[in-house]
Amino acid sequence: AAVDNAPAIVVGSGYGGAVAALRLGQAGIRTLVLEMGRAWNTPGADGKVFCSTSAPDQRSMWFRTRTEAPLATFLWLDVVNRDISAYPGVLDRVHFDAMSVYVGRGVGGGSLVNGGMAVTPLKAYFAEQFPTVDSAEMYGTYFPRARSMLGVNTVDPAWFESTEWYRFTRISRAHAQKTGLKTTFVPNVYDFGYMQREAAGTATKSALAGEVIYGNNHGKRSLDKTYLASALGTGNVTIHTMEKVRAISRAADGSWLLTADRIDTTGTVVETKQYGCAYLFLGGGSLGTTELLVRARETGTLPALDASVGAGWGTNGNVMLGRANHLWDTVGANQSTMPVMGIDDWANTANPVFAEIAPLPTGLEHWVSLYLAITKNPSRASFSYDSGTGGVRLGWTAAHSAVSVAMAKKLFDRINSANSTIYRYDLFGSSNKVFADDFTYHPLGGCVLGKATDNYGRVKGYPRLYVTDGSLVPGSIGVNPFVTITALAERTMARVLAEDTAP
Ligand code: FAD
Repeated sequence: AAVDNAPAIVVGSGYGGAVAALRLGQAGIRTLVLEMGRAWNTPGADGKVFCSTSAPDQRSMWFRTRTEAPLATFLWLDVVNRDISAYPGVLDRVHFDAMSVYVGRGVGGGSLVNGGMAVTPLKAYFAEQFPTVDSAEMYGTYFPRARSMLGVNTVDPAWFESTEWYRFTRISRAHAQKTGLKTTFVPNVYDFGYMQREAAGTATKSALAGEVIYGNNHGKRSLDKTYLASALGTGNVTIHTMEKVRAISRAADGSWLLTADRIDTTGTVVETKQYGCAYLFLGGGSLGTTELLVRARETGTLPALDASVGAGWGTNGNVMLGRANHLWDTVGANQSTMPVMGIDDWANTANPVFAEIAPLPTGLEHWVSLYLAITKNPSRASFSYDSGTGGVRLGWTAAHSAVSVAMAKKLFDRINSANSTIYRYDLFGSSNKVFADDFTYHPLGGCVLGKATDNYGRVKGYPRLYVTDGSLVPGSIGVNPFVTITALAERTMARVLAEDTAP
């Protein structure tokens, strides 16, 4: 097959890929982005780009015949999930032996489906995770650059205190305070001005209409509206959608060769394409990038990849759980889907936890307080190549998850005891499961900075091959990760464009 050549290729269009595409385009380098998902810019028959959370259709999930929402049940009834037809929907749940991982699929990657929480980690914890990175430069230059490009903003505190849409958050804050715990506002990329207009009835509701994990039709500054719009605006960037990169190898002259499968909306491979480039940037996310590199090493197309490729993977200590409130502590039938507050007990060195106060927007009063706890779980797992399937396996075990659960339990046992409340047993399946310990929203690591790559994301052993996404983060960052991923990608691109691409 003919080889389609570009000076630079970027695999994936999430945070890492979007930053690479913009900075390459601005530097005048013609760049092709290959994204396996679709572009989410065309309305369906109902006039909406994304489907609703309460009545999900084929647009909700990546080639499924039934949705797999994080909260499978409510009062033990499977009221949440729906039969759908297989289609390249926006949310994927990738199953490994003891852990499944939620990821976004489409132009914008995780930004299309995530909760928008845009948190900068504590400087001391960042320095602990990235001892070789100059924190002063990160906090002085790259974190501010990332926040400004992503459109990070904060909820107006006066509106927060008065609106029915955040009653669920205020109740959880009161319970944290009664326990002697600190809470903190969490910034977001959802436009809070827009949200206030939704509440006032002057704008079409999105965050206030339950929209989030299957996409927001309004209000959210996802990457297609920020980095990727600017990248396309340079005139140097092209995005090919529905093309999944399967193999990477190196030509005799040191340039890169890629094999990509183009699929149609049934998932059928309609064309296998060959691409060539001088500079290759991997932004397929922790799962996508790591799988490509583990496969390249194990099948012998890039045999000199470091032994640490595939290692250092973690869940950011994610655990989800719900508490049952007293009848007088109503959380409200109306809940915004964008979280704005966390319980911050990270400074508790005996049991560091940062717990986001999450919404459960069912349109009915349910007295549930829901949380996504981020715990300081030191467990790490590795990916291994499965020659039978051509995919990867993940060595994460239930014992690894148990470490996160124990930490979350320790914190929430305190909160329950101070407020005379109990856990909810009906949210995560039929077996009275209190802690959702079998999925993560925050896959991190696999090609860790300074191990699989040099200190700037240059892949060891292979010049002009770079990693720019969440696989660089060594398994834990203590807060929601996309601001960190974006800032690290900015740092990589600044260095690479200054040193590697000079004519
Ligand atoms: P991704 O954003 O995952 O992008 C990778 C892209 O590459 C995807 O579009 C994928 O389809 C594509 N791709 C992968 N492999 C290939 C291939 N072989 N060929 C072509 N394309 C490929 N983080 C926060 O900071 N705040 C939050 O509030 C938050 N909430 C979340 C809620 C949910 C439901 C989920 C799923 C995640 C959430 N996250 C949140 C996590 C955040 O979205 C991720 O950390 C982030 O998207 C990772 O960025 P990335 O650049 O590493 O990869």
